[in-house]
Amino acid sequence: MAKEKKFVEAITPMAEDFAQWYTDVVKKAELVEYSSIKGCMILRPNGYAIWENVMHQLDAKFKETGVENVSMPLFIPESLLQKEKDHVAGFAPEVAWVTHGGNEKLQERLCVRPTSETLFCDLYKNIVQSHRDLPKLYNQWCSVVRWEKTTRPFLRTTEFLWQEGHTAHATAEEAEERTVLMLNVYADFCENVLAIPVIRGRKTDKEKFAGAHSTYTIEALMHDGKALQSGTSHNFGDGFARAFGIQYSDKENKLQYVHQTSWGLSTRIIGAIIMVHGDDSGLVLPPRIAPTQIMVIPIAQHKEGVTEKALELKETLIKAGFKTKVDDTDKSPGWKFSEQEMRGIPLRIEIGPKDLEAGQAVLVRRDTREKRVVPFEQVTAVASAMLEQMQNDMLHRAKAHLESHIYEADDYESFKETVATKPGFIKTMWCGDEACELKIKEETGATSRCMPFIQEHLGDTCVCCGRPAKVMIYWGKAY
Ligand code: ZN
Repeated sequence: MAKEKKFVEAITPMAEDFAQWYTDVVKKAELVEYSSIKGCMILRPNGYAIWENVMHQLDAKFKETGVENVSMPLFIPESLLQKEKDHVAGFAPEVAWVTHGGNEKLQERLCVRPTSETLFCDLYKNIVQSHRDLPKLYNQWCSVVRWEKTTRPFLRTTEFLWQEGHTAHATAEEAEERTVLMLNVYADFCENVLAIPVIRGRKTDKEKFAGAHSTYTIEALMHDGKALQSGTSHNFGDGFARAFGIQYSDKENKLQYVHQTSWGLSTRIIGAIIMVHGDDSGLVLPPRIAPTQIMVIPIAQHKEGVTEKALELKETLIKAGFKTKVDDTDKSPGWKFSEQEMRGIPLRIEIGPKDLEAGQAVLVRRDTREKRVVPFEQVTAVASAMLEQMQNDMLHRAKAHLESHIYEADDYESFKETVATKPGFIKTMWCGDEACELKIKEETGATSRCMPFIQEHLGDTCVCCGRPAKVMIYWGKAY
């Protein structure tokens, strides 16, 4: 028993030190391992399997909207990166350069892609000639590199996995429609699959993507009251098209510039899953994203028939469509329970010699630890209902947490006090002046998160300067 206790005790309680709790979970749940390259992480099978599920499900959603996948080069020539001024200014400080090929110094430096707008522009310039070539709806799943000074697993790493969609359209309206469409794909995925409620809105000019006309974002609230930008979608207008010369001939045979978008979601989202749903026993995975949904754990498995029944249950559950495993290792049941909880596997089925005699199994939910004793023939139906209920309850709990951590402030004094004492989002009115945004960031540490699509009229004046307000905005401390 001493050993089992140690396994659980090894996590720092959330309330004591949230950052340490997070680090403990990613290590103990065996999601990542640190590599010998500073700032780069290794995704272990438990972590990569979550990303695989994100990829499969999001990819299917993208394809429903007409998106096609491609694979682009890893390198960008310096001259290409330089073409759009705001873009290069935004990314230059965190770009990694390749200067040599073998022993030869390259004539032109190559950067390791921090994002691939410039490469897609270079491609579209060559393959788009006529209005018949549009739209182009391309996406790639890949890794990118941004030279970060401080890193944390999933949240900020030098190399990370993501998808980047890049589209080209004939009109500004189509590009805008696509930008919003993809943001909504992300938002629906977060809410329906990951059980993470998000606020949808537009970034301020200060916070928007380098080179974008406008950036839309989904913002989620972590358990500690900090915000996490969880996916972004950018409308470039024709800015990149003008810089790269991407033109098509319209129906009247006149040359027009295309309008472009890009949108991305990364392994950062796994950080959000951990920090929205986890507890002091470890990870809690929403059933719809969990690589293993049910773990069957035989108790006193050396006793006749126990392991056989566990394996039989597994087969039945797999046939019914549930991702199921049996832990028939020689670890003690207590140890197995701890491991299953640490890894966030949504449902545990316990079966021992007495259960076998009584023709029943014990089903335990990971999130609430609700326990149900169920006759064998009802296991599939009850497991299905419990997983469905768990998925719904997780979303509701996360929603309640989000809603109870949204505060409102009318004047600067109450704003400052709220930032200092109540972690969460603060909604206010804003004049739209970047000076106020900068002042708030410098003096309180809170940044503008987004101007929500659903606007409320909270008052007539800016929370910071008292001048007439233009828009309602969310603020918060963020990862
Ligand atoms: Zn102001």
